[in-house]
Amino acid sequence: MSDELNHPDFPVPDELQGAVTVTTLDRIYNWSRRSSVMPMVFGLACCAIEMICAAASRFDISRFGMEVFRATPRQSDLMIVSGTVTKKMVPQIVRLYNQMPEPKYVIAMGACASGGGPFKEGYNVVSGIDKYLPVDVYVPGCPPTPQALLYGLIKLQEKIDKQSISQVPWYQPGGNEAVPIPVLGPDIMDPRQFEMIRRETAVEA
Ligand code: SF4
Repeated sequence: MSDELNHPDFPVPDELQGAVTVTTLDRIYNWSRRSSVMPMVFGLACCAIEMICAAASRFDISRFGMEVFRATPRQSDLMIVSGTVTKKMVPQIVRLYNQMPEPKYVIAMGACASGGGPFKEGYNVVSGIDKYLPVDVYVPGCPPTPQALLYGLIKLQEKIDKQSISQVPWYQPGGNEAVPIPVLGPDIMDPRQFEMIRRETAVEA
């Protein structure tokens, strides 16, 4: 553990190795978060089966400190969007994301969550969850294997390692705004585009 925490710019003398760790606040803050990411119990379609496999004994997600899938967004800091994102489901997904406390991360697992997959341009499917939520890691595949998801989780850990406590958005004044919840009418509508929709409708009329 001390190897992971020691900062290479502050060498520890040989006789103190194992007894003393010299590190930075950023490094210990990131190390503790990256080693205890709690994903939400949440699956949308076939990709979710592979996610479940990743949590079972053969692949053993607990090696990464991530085995505690939480049944509530309020105790989760990772949303794995695993499966086809339908227009009917998007408002619920965004609502769950808003209910997660910061810091929070999103993994788009599979072709559907990343860009619509085989259903892209379908009448009932969204072309990627990144149209609504900030995605940190994309895991390609249809479906991605459990190994691919584990690789995506490692990439997320690497991303967490690079964050700095002085720059992360959740400690900035004002904090982050919640993502506006999309509205399902005749089609799915993003409230951030209402003004543009009104304008276009007026032109058509
Ligand atoms: S990417 Fe493929 S396996 Fe995953 S939800 Fe879509 S269709 Fe199913």
